[in-house]
Amino acid sequence: MITCTNCETAQFLQITQSRVYFEDGEMINEISETYECTLCGATGRYVYDDDSDEETITGDVEQTTERPKYA
Ligand SMILES: [Zn+2]
Repeated sequence: MITCTNCETAQFLQITQSRVYFEDGEMINEISETYECTLCGATGRYVYDDDSDEETITGDVEQTTERPKYA
């Protein structure tokens, strides 16, 4: 899950932009999501590249392996 590095929670994160890129009109090639924390105003970006199976996090967000608290 993606959390805000300042607030250390995902509770206030909003996805402000989400894009899925297609290759050859069918396969999902890349996923790009832009996050904004409504509590502190931090922003960050999550990108998943299917080609290299790589996840990239930039900005004031981080990915944790914790399960969501309210799941
Ligand atoms: Zn925050």
